[in-house]
Amino acid sequence: MSRIYLSPPEVGPDERRMLLEAFDSNWIAPLGPDVDAFEAELAARVGMPHAVALSSGTAALHLALVLSGVQAGDEVLIPSFTFVATANAATYVGAVPVFVDCSPETWNIDPVLVADELDRRAATDSLPAAVITVDLYGQSCDYEPLLAACERHQVPLIEDAAEALGTTYHGQACGSFGSMAAFSFNGNKIITTSGGGMLVTPTGDEAARARYLATQAREPFPHYEHTTIGYNYRLSNLLAALGRAQLAGLDSRITRRRRIQERYRDALGGIEGIEFMPIAPYGEPNWWLTCLTVDPDAFGCDREDIRLALEAADIEARPTWKPLHLQPVFAGNKVVGGSVCAEIFDRGICLPTGSALSESDQDRVIDLILACRRP
Ligand SMILES: *Cc1c(COP(=O)(O)O)cnc(C)c1O
Repeated sequence: MSRIYLSPPEVGPDERRMLLEAFDSNWIAPLGPDVDAFEAELAARVGMPHAVALSSGTAALHLALVLSGVQAGDEVLIPSFTFVATANAATYVGAVPVFVDCSPETWNIDPVLVADELDRRAATDSLPAAVITVDLYGQSCDYEPLLAACERHQVPLIEDAAEALGTTYHGQACGSFGSMAAFSFNGNKIITTSGGGMLVTPTGDEAARARYLATQAREPFPHYEHTTIGYNYRLSNLLAALGRAQLAGLDSRITRRRRIQERYRDALGGIEGIEFMPIAPYGEPNWWLTCLTVDPDAFGCDREDIRLALEAADIEARPTWKPLHLQPVFAGNKVVGGSVCAEIFDRGICLPTGSALSESDQDRVIDLILACRRP
């Protein structure tokens, strides 16, 4: 039996064909027709006017912060419960992440804490330069109250939708709520280019500026002329071809990941001590990862026992994100709340959810979890 991974890439004949077509068309140079088409197709899917294909989701977040004018010494509100890339991007522009706890109802940044923090800071003239939201594990944040609070204080909201391609909130796609948004096509995301990302923006000027910054800030001269510091952040045309084939299969992936979560819920949902990540009624997730918490007293063992039992059977499961306010690298950063995500981290585990996971492999995972139970 081969190892069961958490969320491995799934590629098939369409990916192979489109990659080889790009290869045979000789568009090996970084930019090319598949980059343009991938950008247009992703922008259409998200409902944002412009998209810029980049080398990673982190690069997309970095450029979103640059374009939003976030500068050295500025503070940025960021959920504590997320992957480190969200906060790393803020540090690339010299900004200081201020971490905000999540809501127990959604595991996403708590809109009440954000609103209170913005009100409090407005009164002391210390508003942050931006709020970055993260649509965690494929579930949308609660954008109505978040946008109302940000608009009230004229603070830009940047959406880290790296995990949420295909997710909706009241029928509207994630990635279309912020002044800009970032997607990731890293190997374990719902679609992958083996590595890549996308910045989506409402205006063509911002998209043009992002392309300029992502290609070493080259001025339009025959020689190499530079008036500002740029980056080497563009996606290769070959990988964009792969991304187009993956994007065409997005809905089928969402359906299958949803089915996988439903089977986990059917098998484990009624067991005492197990609670799945709550699904908020306001939206439709893309079901990227199935996550649950384990109450050791009620279940009879803790999530680490489960993770190790799965690992012993060559099955990869992972603890939920370790909150950033508990990460050594951010020791000393401010935090608003923090106990909710700390408790989810203590008890939380992400289960294998790859779109190609077979029912028999999933049954092995379920049986091993049930066998961990102690009376
Ligand atoms: C994956 C991820 C990123 C980073 O994307 P990369 O393409 O790996 O750079 C950023 N934020 C979140 C929440 C992610 O899950």
